Amino acid sequence: MGLAARVADLGKTYGTGESTVTALDGVSVGIRRGQFTAIMGPSGSGKSTLMHMMAGLDAPTAGRVWIGDTEITGLRDGELTVLRRRRVGFVFQAFNLVPTLDVRGNITLPFELDGRRPTAGEQARIDALIDQLGIGDRLTHRPHQLSGGQQQRVAIARALATAPDLVFADEPTGALDSRTSREVLAILADASSRHGQSIAMVTHDPIAASHADRVLFLGDGRLVADKPRQTPEQISAHMLSAEAPDGAGAFPYAAGAAPTAGASSAAPTAGGAGHPFAAASSVRAGEPDATSSGAAAPPAAAVPSAGTAHPAAGTVTMTASSGVATPAGMPTFPAPTGPAPSRGGVA
Ligand code: ADP
Ligand code: MG
Repeated sequence: MGLAARVADLGKTYGTGESTVTALDGVSVGIRRGQFTAIMGPSGSGKSTLMHMMAGLDAPTAGRVWIGDTEITGLRDGELTVLRRRRVGFVFQAFNLVPTLDVRGNITLPFELDGRRPTAGEQARIDALIDQLGIGDRLTHRPHQLSGGQQQRVAIARALATAPDLVFADEPTGALDSRTSREVLAILADASSRHGQSIAMVTHDPIAASHADRVLFLGDGRLVADKPRQTPEQISAHMLSAEAPDGAGAFPYAAGAAPTAGASSAAPTAGGAGHPFAAASSVRAGEPDATSSGAAAPPAAAVPSAGTAHPAAGTVTMTASSGVATPAGMPTFPAPTGPAPSRGGVA
């Protein structure tokens, strides 16, 4: 069947000295092609960290990572950015839309960032996604004019627009009501069953995970179980038996880690942790200065590392600004223009 991504002996520690946190400890696992895989585990168990490492959004402190047959550990930032932008799609709990772009602009952002327009075939695919996601009458609306569910659909359309073989979703239903969650999960399941895409979804929600073909369970930074499709009850039972007392997973989005939380952690070599398409992730919420001019940025130009301060230059403005601003900026999350990841509890 082949693997869309895999990690070997993966380790990640944050901080140094007494404040060292071991987020991942010797994880080896592959994401199978064409499958919908859920990565499940209590808050703080390392789910988001694993996803970030697998997606090349942040660098591990030990072990190796492959996307398809390409080993990304050690890849240069520029190469990694291009690979990620062309082959990987991302959906986050916080939607990460660019507030200054309308729906169409957000969906086509990965192409813009790649310095090209969708081909006719790609445009047809985008149109089909727009249709399937029911956002056709919203194309000229900005994110703040949409409900959370609609914003997440736009984020999904963007993630699937380039037909990436691999899609990572981190708590994609975390900010949605149950009906909208079901729709979003159905779309992700469809992407794998009908389109052969490989989906890796991080969630702490047993119902969400029950939509997956396979459920990986993390506990304390280790892979503790690897099971075929499970019912929500089976998943809950497993979670209860493994539940860690902690619950205060400090910081879900390493990216944001930037200046605040990230200060103590090793600078991500991947450049722009949390920055899927380099600039795009930008998208991280509500940045008033995420101008649309940024969308015209030359591909990969300079992917600033997440911690980088705001480049004055217009180019990748979106990336840096948002990466930096989020942690400090916006604690609330269903705020329409600037949802931020939840920090506590359920990361
Ligand atoms: P999950 O997504 O399962 O809730 P995470 O992968 O976000 O867990 O976090 C795993 C552990 O690593 C937690 O103890 C968390 O506090 C810690 N952690 C995550 N990111 C950072 C960071 N940037 N700096 C310091 N600690 C972090
Ligand atoms: Mg998380």
